[in-house]
Amino acid sequence: MIRFGQTADAIAATPSKLAKIELLAQYLRALDDADLAAATRFFTGNPFAARDQGALSLGGSTIVAAARAAWNFSDADLATHYRRHGDLGAALAPLIKPATRLELFSETLGPASMKAILDQIAAASGKAATRKRQLLCERILRACRSELEAKYAIKIITGELRIGLKEGLVIDAIAKAFERDAAEIRRAVMASGDIGAVAVAARAGTLQELAVSYGSPIGFMLASPILYGSSYRELQGAKWIAEDKFDGIRAQLHKDGDIVRIFSRTLNDVAHSYPEIVTDARAIPGSVIFDGEIIAEKEGRVLPFRYLQARLQRKDISAQLLEEVPVTFACFDLLAHGQRFLLDEPLESRRKELSRISITGDHVRFASWSYWDSDAGADALHERFEDARRRGHEGLMLKRAESPYLPGRRGKWWLKLKRELSTLDVVVVGVEWGHGKRAKVLSDYTFAVRGDDNRLLTIGRAYSGLTDAEIARLTEWFLEHTLRDAPAAGRGWRHAIPVEPRVVIEVAFDIIQESALHESGFALRFPRIVRIRDDKPPEDIDTIDQVRSIYAAMLAREGIASPSPA
Ligand code: AMP
Repeated sequence: MIRFGQTADAIAATPSKLAKIELLAQYLRALDDADLAAATRFFTGNPFAARDQGALSLGGSTIVAAARAAWNFSDADLATHYRRHGDLGAALAPLIKPATRLELFSETLGPASMKAILDQIAAASGKAATRKRQLLCERILRACRSELEAKYAIKIITGELRIGLKEGLVIDAIAKAFERDAAEIRRAVMASGDIGAVAVAARAGTLQELAVSYGSPIGFMLASPILYGSSYRELQGAKWIAEDKFDGIRAQLHKDGDIVRIFSRTLNDVAHSYPEIVTDARAIPGSVIFDGEIIAEKEGRVLPFRYLQARLQRKDISAQLLEEVPVTFACFDLLAHGQRFLLDEPLESRRKELSRISITGDHVRFASWSYWDSDAGADALHERFEDARRRGHEGLMLKRAESPYLPGRRGKWWLKLKRELSTLDVVVVGVEWGHGKRAKVLSDYTFAVRGDDNRLLTIGRAYSGLTDAEIARLTEWFLEHTLRDAPAAGRGWRHAIPVEPRVVIEVAFDIIQESALHESGFALRFPRIVRIRDDKPPEDIDTIDQVRSIYAAMLAREGIASPSPA
């Protein structure tokens, strides 16, 4: 792994994309097939082919335990390094003990041999699985001969290389190394779901032989927000397709023969949670990949998101739950059909081909769509929006009729129109250090509303919405205003450091839920910081009464008559 580490360091050191591509291409060209397949995957941050679903299940604490067993260091040493780097690989690597380099350990680590150990980690199961994983991780670390090797071994294990290399650049590097067209490489990666195999095929000249690989998830195409009530300039001069914006869970359904897989946004197979969808999907003729949204739907009526939550992450779905919260897969896109990959076709044609596929049963259906004329004006658009809301959806999606399917991209081809439920003015009561590039700033804020007896009650935690400059300014302020003698923090505090409750922020959110996690008894879903309210004293923040009334209004809109989830 020495050459891997040197290449990765060199890539990290140059801001030039062309230079990164050249460095990686040179390295890849020199590898044999086994190392080429493994190293290419490592450079994308995922040691496994997307379709293999390999999950290392190695938490930070197991990695630290393995490193401690191999190198024997103190907590204080680790804490100092972690604070400095904010990255486990960079923090642990300097703790490598010279003694281990002298140990008579015959194993040397190359990409293929490291991948073989990672496979064993992913396969570890049963009672002692954590212990087995830790020992295998220790084996990798003991085989590292230098800080550089250790740093990248750990980065590969944690899946965060952080060297400024996106999959797109790895694709460009493969194209450059083996003199192929980058578009051809990209298509082969999407089709086969395995960038390692593509690199090997690119060298051998066998890219055409890589078929659509059902069962390997494709990145989801995402939408950019447009502001409700704005001038809607983004819509002008193009042909659009309007769809309901479902308030469910984005999912990709692969049906091939008898096999049905359903991938979530994190590209995990979640089919076991939705047996009724699997049964109906099996009846679809041929092989297809659908993009869509899983929603809770009963007797033709959409149930609010909180019902669907009762189905999430459940391994055993009781007959009662199936009855109370039935789910539907609403398909809005067709990504592959038989051996044809459709990503480059315009949305309009994909949609038409989708509607010709025969679907039976109650649990897979087409999402309805209509053309949207951009000259129709804001009033007509708002009418269409309200119509979607009345039918229980979150808002509208507007997609360009000629839009290709761009996996993993958020662009202007797809737009989402929704209206926030509300905003609250709250006060920050606790702060936490961020992660990654925010490791050195206090960027995670636990905030509270005012309770009936004037006490501050936590209601959420937010870490997005502010600029780096604002976060830097607040970090300075918070560091000077921590409450060292504060009473032991209560519900909702996690590891937050208590601070003087003086910074008022406005947070927007989509949904309020009842929750035992916070002192207020409520939690906000997707809270985002809209702005810092320097103009507002903490005495004037919103109260628990206001929270209760927003909650009651939300329930009234949803129709409280619906049954409670199990
Ligand atoms: P948001 O969660 O507000 O950022 O909106 C993006 C999400 O909207 C996507 O990830 C999908 O889960 C969801 N969504 C709902 N309806 C659609 C639709 N018709 N087309 C695409 N995405 C949709």
